[in-house]
Amino acid sequence: GFPAGKKWEIVRSFEGPRLMTVNGDEGEPGTFKDRFWLERRPHQMLEGALIAAHIVECEKIYIYMRDEYPEVLEILKREINAIEKENIADISIELRRGAGAYICGEESAMIESIEGKRGIPRHRPPFVAQVGVFGRPTLVHNVETLHWVAKICQEGPEILSSMIKNQRQGWRSFSVSGRIKKPGVYLLPAGSTITDVIAAAGGMLDGHIFKSYQPGGASSGILPARLNNIPLDFDTLQPHGSFIGSAAVVVMSEKDKARDAALNMLRFFEDESCGQCTPCRVGCEKAVKLMQEEKWDKALLEEISATMVDASICGLGQAAANPIRLTIKHFSEEI
Ligand code: SF4
Repeated sequence: GFPAGKKWEIVRSFEGPRLMTVNGDEGEPGTFKDRFWLERRPHQMLEGALIAAHIVECEKIYIYMRDEYPEVLEILKREINAIEKENIADISIELRRGAGAYICGEESAMIESIEGKRGIPRHRPPFVAQVGVFGRPTLVHNVETLHWVAKICQEGPEILSSMIKNQRQGWRSFSVSGRIKKPGVYLLPAGSTITDVIAAAGGMLDGHIFKSYQPGGASSGILPARLNNIPLDFDTLQPHGSFIGSAAVVVMSEKDKARDAALNMLRFFEDESCGQCTPCRVGCEKAVKLMQEEKWDKALLEEISATMVDASICGLGQAAANPIRLTIKHFSEEI
């Protein structure tokens, strides 16, 4: 949601040498769009990375790739070797393997990991644009942004900025799974609703009635089917206590309980919390205990949620409360 061009201006404004990182640690539950694009069009990301690094005058690119994607690692190794062999870039590219920690998808934790340290988020300021990898100004991009950078250079800006129905349109790669007929990655106009996403994925599975959905990864929580007309885009889900995140949509039916899904999400956050700050480390653990009860202690869960949102260092602890709050708000009959 942050304009790439603005990011380039900011990082360029700091004195070099500058470095660049590509965040390929796709760990948000339900997200597989980067894998999809990297398996099919690895050159597009690499080309976008070289373009961005050239513009910002970065001396080196570190690609941080999820180790659970062995095929992607092989593809990238092969293609980086080809770039070096053909001598078509004067920037060196280093491929780094993540070790499976969700928190290393947070940019400063990823940078710590690239530096060979334990991957835990840094305090800010200073921001990584100024003090990033090895203390140098660092441009951090995700895979999909670079994919689009190359595509825009090849096909022109209109592919992202044309106007449809008086609205500026872009595209989102939705990773869609759950109770739908055709799980997969779907490229849909930004602002598509869950109804559009389900239709693209072949509709609901036979015998299932749409009940709820995760709009953007586990940290976006769970919304009820009646909120089926919200554009799934930046800033449109915030008024509903959610956000688009990685656009990982999980569709649930009346055979799924929202409370079970929310508990599953909190168990995941409890496992993946880096443990650095108390509100997140202890909050996730206490929330899991309370959510396992037959009847939820709503007041206490709300108090824990507020503390986690206000006092956690990074997005994991701040967003972990979303599944709790949205389940209390929309699925109170279950709890
Ligand atoms: Fe670590 Fe959680 Fe604190 Fe983030 S919010 S720094 S994951 S303990």
